[in-house]
Amino acid sequence: MVLIIAILASIVVPRLTGAAAEANKSKCDANWANLIRALELYAANNNGAYPADNAAFQADVLNSSIYFPHGAPVCPFSSTPYVYVGDAAGGTVTAHIH
Ligand SMILES: [Zn+2]
Repeated sequence: MVLIIAILASIVVPRLTGAAAEANKSKCDANWANLIRALELYAANNNGAYPADNAAFQADVLNSSIYFPHGAPVCPFSSTPYVYVGDAAGGTVTAHIH
């Protein structure tokens, strides 16, 4: 009986952790898509100008209650903020590969 439970656990536990990882991956992808939309909205609100650098992005987009009234999205895996690469002429948010 113990052996059967151990065998079942060895099958079920990895499936559950795999499902959690897939959910986190979907969440991270959704965060990134929302950040790109917020970035484009920011540019539209600023005469086409994008954030000057990552520090400006963090302050004016990611941590802005205008674009994220419920707080800045963070990666569900690393809990780190997303990074902007670019300047006022244009840029993007680096997507995560999980
Ligand atoms: Zn991530």
